[in-house]
Amino acid sequence: MNIHEYQAKSLLRGYRVTTPRGEVVYTSKAAARVAEELGGQRWVVKAQIHAGGRGKAGGVKIGNSPDRIAELADQLLGSTLVTAQTGPEGQRVSRVLVERASRIEREFYLSLTVDRDAQRIVVIASAEGGVDIEAVASARPEAIHTEVVDAGVGLLDFQCRKIAIAIGLGKKTTSFTRLLKRMYRLFRDSDCLLLEVNPFIETEDGELVALDCKMSFDDNALFRQGDVVELRDFDEEDPKEVEATGHGLNYIALDGSVGCIVNGAGLAMGTMDAIVHHGGRPANFLDVGGGASPEKIANAFRIVMKDRNVRVILVNIFAGINRCDWIAQGVVHATRDQAIEVPVIVRLAGTNVDEGRRILDESGLALIQAEDLDDAAAKAVAAAREVAA
Ligand code: ADP
Ligand code: MG
Repeated sequence: MNIHEYQAKSLLRGYRVTTPRGEVVYTSKAAARVAEELGGQRWVVKAQIHAGGRGKAGGVKIGNSPDRIAELADQLLGSTLVTAQTGPEGQRVSRVLVERASRIEREFYLSLTVDRDAQRIVVIASAEGGVDIEAVASARPEAIHTEVVDAGVGLLDFQCRKIAIAIGLGKKTTSFTRLLKRMYRLFRDSDCLLLEVNPFIETEDGELVALDCKMSFDDNALFRQGDVVELRDFDEEDPKEVEATGHGLNYIALDGSVGCIVNGAGLAMGTMDAIVHHGGRPANFLDVGGGASPEKIANAFRIVMKDRNVRVILVNIFAGINRCDWIAQGVVHATRDQAIEVPVIVRLAGTNVDEGRRILDESGLALIQAEDLDDAAAKAVAAAREVAA
């Protein structure tokens, strides 16, 4: 789960990390009022979407009067921002952060994330922070410094000093160490997968300030992160994924044409591989889980059919806890009730398979049965091609 910059900054402030003063607003009038209240001569208006790259895409603007801030907010609010991270369809802006413009001396990159190879939290830092960190990482990897943290011991002062020196903040090791250790505590306390401050800056007055912040949390830990869950913004998420979660289904949208309804994450992965092997592309990953009722199957069909790219549905169930007769009933009802017009390929195996197949055969529907995974994938890809032709 991701959150907005203004929310992440509020969490940072809770750990006494300095950020610019500011407030999120939903109207241009409120933007002018906030600028007025903050005081100063220059303010920044920042589009709040769950994607970076806003600076380069025109989503971060500076103005030097409250009226100008209202104008800039007006331009951003309601617009669709396309950045390097949003995909071509972009993301609609419904709120902006208005904050005082900092006087920047230098911009740095600093993040904490989980390194799955090292199975540790790592600190990543660079003196070349700002809007081009990806380019720096690929062109000059030596400009990126990493420090692996032993979770049992925690982040140690000498590691903070090492990083400070590496990025040219040797004269500021005390305040940098304080900043980084506070970030580390926030990371641990809130079960983060990523806490990225790009840039954090040294101001002209020598202060270290977090100017931007991106946070992602481990979905598997949300059950114990009530305060974090409160920050969820469903407008930023795929509505099909949100609906699926509500029905206890595990759904991820992809960009192919074969809609998949499968039980178990392993089989879902295998099914996607088999589809690709036969020259097709999965439209989604949908795991109905064990003990799927006919209602659950119906919900799965509904969600998959909301995707306009779906040209065929492939149901692939290996029933252990599941029962093929239940699945078959679910498929028959969903196909009939929802008047599904795309070809439906069904592969059943396991508990009550004969009964399941009989239900499909006797349904009078044009369901295509498959013998095994390979056969199912081949038939699904062939059917998708036919529909496309
Ligand atoms: P993104 O990463 O999405 O491009 P950032 O928040 O990092 O957005 O902003 C991009 C750039 O805008 C920063 O690198 C910084 O130069 C400038 N900027 C952002 N916030 C402020 C601020 N409060 N004061 C001055 N400059 C800012
Ligand atoms: Mg940034």
